[in-house]
Amino acid sequence: MAGDGRRVVVFPFPFHGHATPLLRLASVLHTRGFAVTIFHTELRAPDPAEYPADYRFVPLRVDVPPELMASEDIAGMVTAMSEYSEAPFKERLTAALAEEGAGVRCVIADVAWYKALSVSSALGVPAMGVMTASAANYRVYMAYPMLIEKGYLPVQEARREDLVQELPPYRVKDLLRLEASSLQGFADLLRNTIEAPRQSAGLIFNTLRAIEADDLDTIRQEESLPVFALAPLHKLAPPGNTSSSLYGETQADRECLDWLDTQEPGSVVYVSFGSLAAMDPHEFVELAWGLAASKRPFLWVVRPTLIRGYESGQLPDGLDEQIRDHGRLVSWAPQVEVLAHPAVGAFITHSGWNSTVEAVSEGVPMICLPLHGDQFSNARYVCDVWKVGMEIEASSAAGQNLERGKIKAAIDKIVHDKGIRERMDAFKLAADEAVNSQTEVKALVDLINSF
Ligand code: UDP
Repeated sequence: MAGDGRRVVVFPFPFHGHATPLLRLASVLHTRGFAVTIFHTELRAPDPAEYPADYRFVPLRVDVPPELMASEDIAGMVTAMSEYSEAPFKERLTAALAEEGAGVRCVIADVAWYKALSVSSALGVPAMGVMTASAANYRVYMAYPMLIEKGYLPVQEARREDLVQELPPYRVKDLLRLEASSLQGFADLLRNTIEAPRQSAGLIFNTLRAIEADDLDTIRQEESLPVFALAPLHKLAPPGNTSSSLYGETQADRECLDWLDTQEPGSVVYVSFGSLAAMDPHEFVELAWGLAASKRPFLWVVRPTLIRGYESGQLPDGLDEQIRDHGRLVSWAPQVEVLAHPAVGAFITHSGWNSTVEAVSEGVPMICLPLHGDQFSNARYVCDVWKVGMEIEASSAAGQNLERGKIKAAIDKIVHDKGIRERMDAFKLAADEAVNSQTEVKALVDLINSF
């Protein structure tokens, strides 16, 4: 039974890629003897039945105007969520403190909940921010005013390939590709996102020192904060306790694991674009033909919202047959188990940060098809810094649309690249070592116990 009167309040941001690492972190701390209280928005509530019986769940009414929630202004939406959460968060945390007193050791919140971090510190509760994207991206947040001042942002077509001298290894095209109109909104959000943790007790990253030691050291020094690298969270958390039922998404198709059992070791290409990304039908078709042409078995996550305007049965002549002959389509996969399966030899990914860390931890080489946001930055690190993948530029903004020939060529190349394989094996060993030693978990637990 967890507890001994030591409780952590965990506040995940309600998007899949943000919530998953925080829920896994809660689970890690639970196994270390902490009682867990999950604060969550009313709009997206977890199902308590999927969590240990002694977890507490506290709903918060965060009344963001619906038109903002539905808008494409991501910075405006995230800012509004954080601002509107301030009052309910304060009320709920005050109530939890009245009930639990000193039992509440700390609040662990996504850095996107910057108001919650400030409120916790103001109420005298040690707070820790969690960055669910990479440490390298945190450095982009820190450098944002400079990037605007020096004219790197907004990204201009003519300067796309330029190196950002002050922030290597970034090139201009690896930065967040924002329209000029969204620049100020993002600048304000990112300033808040890095300012709130400055008053906090530390920063937690979903990353491995093996891949981001330099970035983590820079952040520790420049922000004067303790910094923890808590990946691979999916392996540090107990199996089966990593639910992200916050989103009521379709159940993962577990039968695909049985199908993987029937495939040769290292033969299968796993294809997934995370929980949000969407592509145009012609990109989908090119990818499908490229996969078919590779003559390799593939497992492809095709969420109902992946293809803009797609309706089943609309595939061009012959493609449906090709796909079903060579591969298997699922609407949601048990991704961490798929990546850990010996049959999987390559991963075609949108380069979301969770997917990237999961693939590195399982030693699966990546073909990167970044589509937006921090995915370009992640792909830069995967392909050019760690050298464990290769990128295919899919964005039409790059003037190079996705082509079937490029897909086939990348698959053929990556499965035979010994250098990539060896570097990936070394990262997998480092991830296994992080799990065996639990060094970062122990350091985090010691810090929380010291509060
Ligand atoms: N994921 C999954 N099954 C799928 C597709 C994705 O479990 O079929 C998980 C994946 O393991 C990862 C998360 O969804 O933890 C996607 O996060 P990521 O940061 O890669 O991308 P995002 O969804 O935020 O764009």
